[in-house]
Amino acid sequence: MAKTSFNHSQRALELRNLLNKANHAYYILDSPFIEDAVYDRLYRELLEIEAQNPLLVTPDSPSQRLGGKPSKGFKSVKHRIPLQSLENAFNFNELEAWHSKIQKNIDQTLNMVCELKIDGNALALSYSNGILTKATTRGDGTEGEEITSNVKTIASIPLSLQLKNPPAWLEVRGEAFMPNKTFETINNERIKNDQQLFANPRNACSGTLRQLDPRIVASRNLDFFAYTIHLPNNWEPSKSDPQQPKGQIEALGWLHAAGFKINPHTKSTPTLKDVQYFCSLWESNRHSLPYATDGVVIKIENFKIQKAIGITQKAPKWAIALKYPAEEAPTQLTKLTFQIGRTGAVTPVAEFNPITLAGTLVSRATLHNAKRLSELDIHEGDTIVVRKAGEIIPEVVRIIPELRPKQAKKVYLPKYCPECNTTLVKEIDQAITKCTNIICPAILRGSLRHWVGKNAMDIDGFGSKLIDQLVEKNLITSIAEIYQLEKEQISKLDRMGNKSAEKLINAIEESKQQPWHKQLYGLGILHIGSANAKALAKTFSSAEELKQTICNNPSKISEIFGIGNEILESLQEWFASQVNQNLIKELQGLGLSLAKTKEHPESSSKKANSQIQKLDKQSLVITGSLSTLSRKELVEMIESAGGKITSSISTKTTFLIVGEKPGSKLQKAQQLGVKIISESDIINILNQ
Ligand code: NAD
Repeated sequence: MAKTSFNHSQRALELRNLLNKANHAYYILDSPFIEDAVYDRLYRELLEIEAQNPLLVTPDSPSQRLGGKPSKGFKSVKHRIPLQSLENAFNFNELEAWHSKIQKNIDQTLNMVCELKIDGNALALSYSNGILTKATTRGDGTEGEEITSNVKTIASIPLSLQLKNPPAWLEVRGEAFMPNKTFETINNERIKNDQQLFANPRNACSGTLRQLDPRIVASRNLDFFAYTIHLPNNWEPSKSDPQQPKGQIEALGWLHAAGFKINPHTKSTPTLKDVQYFCSLWESNRHSLPYATDGVVIKIENFKIQKAIGITQKAPKWAIALKYPAEEAPTQLTKLTFQIGRTGAVTPVAEFNPITLAGTLVSRATLHNAKRLSELDIHEGDTIVVRKAGEIIPEVVRIIPELRPKQAKKVYLPKYCPECNTTLVKEIDQAITKCTNIICPAILRGSLRHWVGKNAMDIDGFGSKLIDQLVEKNLITSIAEIYQLEKEQISKLDRMGNKSAEKLINAIEESKQQPWHKQLYGLGILHIGSANAKALAKTFSSAEELKQTICNNPSKISEIFGIGNEILESLQEWFASQVNQNLIKELQGLGLSLAKTKEHPESSSKKANSQIQKLDKQSLVITGSLSTLSRKELVEMIESAGGKITSSISTKTTFLIVGEKPGSKLQKAQQLGVKIISESDIINILNQ
């Protein structure tokens, strides 16, 4: 008898329980508590465990069932032909594997049809003598709910077919969906009425279809794309009727001729290369569609070949859904480390086995700060949900407590700095815990990285590995000492030689010419990001003038747009420190201006001045990932037009710029009545 490991059996049990609970919330309550991508990965993990340990397959496993049981409010109806699900592929390799497995047994070129996978709810529509008589949901695939009165309110579903000689019975299948605009309107109303929001258009559609009052369904503007037709073999169409289809493309033509709406974005091709192109195209363009899609369905075109390939209990073998890359996924925590940044703040960092997110392999994710660590209540071996969208740093967004290993120990923030062993200090009323030892090597490394980085002195070739060596060998103890490094010292370091050392020395020398605002930013003063450094450098011509104003006339600082009390306090604290004053003197002694220069008069050009008008004194927030510009590019454009980017929404926010997959900021903006604009809107404003 095959043996199963205890870990596997325990994990399978936990996964089964969680997935069954998720199915109930999703299919019955229309209110999922985990994202689809997270569900998909956990489901796949269960399938893998069950494949390795067949003894662990139980009758109640979600792998043995499809969808949800029909709900009680409607009559339950047995399907004449089961409504199946689809196998998933999560990348092109899996798609290729599916194709080659089929091709092995079929002795001719396989033509494939690519269709958008509409993220809605499957419906089966029965027509008797061409008249719609019954409409059912998929339910568990064998039995669904009869929702005919509701479905009759969907304008794109014909009540009678455009056929001269319709068969006594036929069944059309397709996807009912809620257009994005309607989804937004309904959720906005729900915000106003303090009701729970629908998680996505699919759940909103499903909730609508199962309304007991058809008038509510009619008001919700649902739509429908047909993609399957089941006709009796002995049907004899009249001459003007569309003929029995022999393949999927003909079937779509048939449906169109009979009066159905079919999705216009389909492709028929024999090559995987074309399939791949179609999938990539719609992955990047899907947000331009007025409805949600979550992938592409690839079907073998010819019906005879489909029959030869066959079906499994849950899905046809002749079709597969390639799902768009996920931006969130579950994974098991292997280690939690604590990093000290240049400000001394401790950042908990989760390490885990690599997972692919938004097309990138990710193995570490931030928990941001000590407060977040305690909010998440992380335990050793927890299953965490990691998110990475666009250029956003991967972060741990949640944990799944149901999957916590038994007796797992809670992870606490350390009491002492993991680098220099100094007692860590919790900032009063703040989320941050800090190492306050100014000679902590981790703080030094962070300050050096910040100073040489692209937004500051941009010293080419001065990478993290080099910094680690310089600090470890005690060759450098402050940023000023970068300018005292000698070629011989550098050339002796790992991966450095005479040539690279010389190049680096030249780059260090050149960096002395960087403009004043970049030097100010490079000093790494708390809360002085690029935008604030630019604003300060525009008003104060040198570090000396800035310091004098801070001491003698601090209100002048607060008059600068975007500089609030918190920033003023941070500047006061920084300039009050003797160590920092010495640093400025040292840098100046080494040839850095820390002031406006003739070469860099800090935005006195006409272009800069005219741009300032556009977003002057405007505060903007960005949410979601951008498709045209990188976040950094957009931030730079906004800042050089006088605007200020902030991280949270308030009544003072002028615009919220919404990209793909926006976060909770969108809701908050709607609640506060902040104007919401798209990426192309802001580009238009900036280009006007
Ligand atoms: P599915 O939605 O992944 O795929 C099958 C369905 O695709 C079909 O039933 C059909 O309705 C639809 N479809 C759309 N366009 C189509 C087209 N052109 N041709 C054919 N079919 C098309 O599978 P499923 O069984 O309906 O649902 C499983 C999925 O639901 C999971 O993969 C998961 O993403 C999600 N789910 C999420 C949770 C959660 O808690 N978040 C719980 C359960 C299920």
